[in-house]
Amino acid sequence: MRKSFQFRIYPTKKQEVTLDRTLSTCRHLYNDSLAERKREAELNRLKQSFDIFPWGKPEWMNYYDQANQLPLSKTVYQEEVYSQVLQNTLKRVDRSFKNFFKGAGYPRFQGRNRYNSFTYPGSGLKLKDGKLTLSKIGNIKIILHREIEGKIKTCTIKKDIDQWYVSFSCKIDIPIIPVEIKTKTGIDVGLTSLITFSNGEQIKPPKHLRASEKRLAREQIHLSKKKLRSKNRNKQRIIAAKVHRKIRNQRKDFAHKTSRKLVDTYDHIVFEDLQIQNMLKNHHLAKSISDASWSQLINLTKSKAEYAGKIVELVNPKGTSQTCICGCSVPKDLSVRIHNCPNCGLVLGRDHISAMLIESRSSTVGTTGIQARLRNLNREPMKRETHLL
Ligand SMILES: [Zn+2]
Repeated sequence: MRKSFQFRIYPTKKQEVTLDRTLSTCRHLYNDSLAERKREAELNRLKQSFDIFPWGKPEWMNYYDQANQLPLSKTVYQEEVYSQVLQNTLKRVDRSFKNFFKGAGYPRFQGRNRYNSFTYPGSGLKLKDGKLTLSKIGNIKIILHREIEGKIKTCTIKKDIDQWYVSFSCKIDIPIIPVEIKTKTGIDVGLTSLITFSNGEQIKPPKHLRASEKRLAREQIHLSKKKLRSKNRNKQRIIAAKVHRKIRNQRKDFAHKTSRKLVDTYDHIVFEDLQIQNMLKNHHLAKSISDASWSQLINLTKSKAEYAGKIVELVNPKGTSQTCICGCSVPKDLSVRIHNCPNCGLVLGRDHISAMLIESRSSTVGTTGIQARLRNLNREPMKRETHLL
């Protein structure tokens, strides 16, 4: 099992210069190899159209082509960077092309404000006595506020405006003992950061999170009014980015606490599959923001559940807001908050019904995580509580 551990690191001014330079070198390498692949692809397409390669040379160059030529053409800047970090950069280009072939967007060139991390794939680093030693960079102060478990597989250094972080992805081998499934809940996640359980209970996001979100909206309006490429615009960009970081941290904290609560309370947790939902529904900005934070919650719940031997299941969300438990269709737009079924007479909050439907769509076994191991267990079929009014 993979688990990641993130810590803040405290580089000296001098180290920060080196870190910045490494980042910049990696970004240039990323953009150069992206450009190279594009050129190669166009050239091949041209050759094919003139029938120079009737036998069909592969149209795209791959990671190995680029990695093999890397040591032969290193620039002075690249000499200063640990070679595996450079290779990892090429892997990122490769991954973005693979994602493109799977239907994601065409790989983009990375601007200075966008490209913010580089990765040591398992070697070239050491962790000892409150210091993180990175090959070609040095000993950086780190505060380990929690213990790292397992074996470090990759180490990613990330810049976040004026702060630096390290994230270790670790491989953990622990025996997972599946628990007997006794409690189960469906969860409806709303646009307004509200979580509803199938028993009607709700979790509201902390107030300070909403306050920060409002502040971000304000700062972004200020930003949009600044003149393009002006000093003031850059200043405002940093202010807005810092508020954004604060929100990110608050959301993460909320997601950690909520997922802990979910896994401690329930053995089988059912969410809507947001990826399917995205295909079903029109996408707008507010939606994509809320989806991102929900994905975080779901992923954290998944990994905590896996650890605890419990189940997280994602079900098809189609029509969960438009149907009744009795199967009758009850269409309602977003402004209608109360579900009122003309067929069976059930009257309940809209989100409550959705959560119940989500739960009812779950299998008895679960479809993700440790289900394979659980299949071998004999379990009682689950009984749903009947909701009578
Ligand atoms: Zn009904």
